Amino acid sequence: MHGSTPGGIEPVPHMRGRIIAHMARGIERPAVPINRELQHVLVINGSKAASRLLGEAIQARCGRQVEMALTLAQAVTLLADKRRKFYAAVVGLELQDAKGTRIVEFALEQGLPTIVLTGSWQEETRRSIFSYPIFDYFVKSKLGIEDVCQALNRIPLNNSTKVLVVDDSVAARDFQIAFLTAHRFHVLFAANGAEALQLLAEHPDTTLVITDNEMPLMDGITLTTRIRETRGRDELAIIGVAAKGSPATAVRFLKHGASDFLAKPFEKEEFYCRIYNCIGSIEHARAITKAAFTDPLTEMANRLAFFTQAPAIFSAAKISGEALAVAMLDIDFFKKVNDTHGHAAGDEVLRQVAALAKECLKGTGVVARFGGEEFCVICRGMNRATAWRIFDQLRGVVEASSMEYEGQTIRVTLSIGVALTPLGSLDETINHADQLLYEAKNGGRNRVVMTHSPDESGNGEEG
Ligand SMILES: [Mg+2]
Repeated sequence: MHGSTPGGIEPVPHMRGRIIAHMARGIERPAVPINRELQHVLVINGSKAASRLLGEAIQARCGRQVEMALTLAQAVTLLADKRRKFYAAVVGLELQDAKGTRIVEFALEQGLPTIVLTGSWQEETRRSIFSYPIFDYFVKSKLGIEDVCQALNRIPLNNSTKVLVVDDSVAARDFQIAFLTAHRFHVLFAANGAEALQLLAEHPDTTLVITDNEMPLMDGITLTTRIRETRGRDELAIIGVAAKGSPATAVRFLKHGASDFLAKPFEKEEFYCRIYNCIGSIEHARAITKAAFTDPLTEMANRLAFFTQAPAIFSAAKISGEALAVAMLDIDFFKKVNDTHGHAAGDEVLRQVAALAKECLKGTGVVARFGGEEFCVICRGMNRATAWRIFDQLRGVVEASSMEYEGQTIRVTLSIGVALTPLGSLDETINHADQLLYEAKNGGRNRVVMTHSPDESGNGEEG
């Protein structure tokens, strides 16, 4: 099944030119990097009115500068001007000075991801356009303009999206790599399941694996099973590939955790539709997870994120007997900030204090906003001396900072309670930190109070 019919449709000669006949196994092929300076989109289209509409939409929805050419000659002039840098081209067919698909070839020769606009939906045109390694094609219409904008926004996203192609057939693998490269994905590839697992360990941020089944060392279904032992369906998508007419293989792939299945030979567009469906669902899941665990105001971990991570840190410290610090932080007289300067100013103060806390406590553990003006921190392996140094430094930094908001200068201070020994449970330890925080408040605020040492009789250290 492998090797003889790579991918499906016959590769056309100019596409073959892009494919390297034989490549070393298991190496990565990074996407053509999108330079942040490449802000411009080149629109080459014979109709001035249609181009203007498209240009306005691209500027509004993609935040990109648009340069327009009505002819091939104008496009050549624009590209010769090195002050402008282009990151993609949108081209219409049949220009005055470039008949048929000549303009598509031209844009691709410039190394630009190319989106083609066609006047109508004809099978002949579709086949002809899609024989080129274009990004996509759309019919000129209102909906088509939406699609163009979406495709343009996709290009930089694809650049940082890793896709791993696993196939022992070099030809089949190269075929898929060519498709993925045309869409500017960061492509990794492996010749069997074992190599794929190794690559995934090196690239844990991979979004999609496309795997053949019949391969030496480890087949695709075994690979799928192994990946699913540690990676859920919402973390990593897997598409199984096998020859048409092997429905049992499709079922086995899906039953062992594949997100989807592709039967060879397949059309280029089916390939793209399936990979984008898979990538889309992973991106949605990631966005939902991020939203669920992030405090929207300060963009730091929220209470849910804290209670998802802290129990394991707490248990590990209890078992190993290593040092642990749990701290409660509270901005002093925060209500007064809101009453005096308004809630928007209060929000800005919260953002700035959160940023200072993140900076001072970077790499020490979990820092979360618990709600209101209260933050909670858990740090593994932090002894009394280190805790004192770090938390008192944070207190000092907040005290020394003046925060600007719409011409008003606002100063706040921070009170901190630090529990230094894990008590019976995480909750008890947090409550203890809370009591110490109240001692800090009662002691005059703007101070750190830590778990009292046995030889200590007073109210902890002075802040
Ligand atoms: Mg094979």
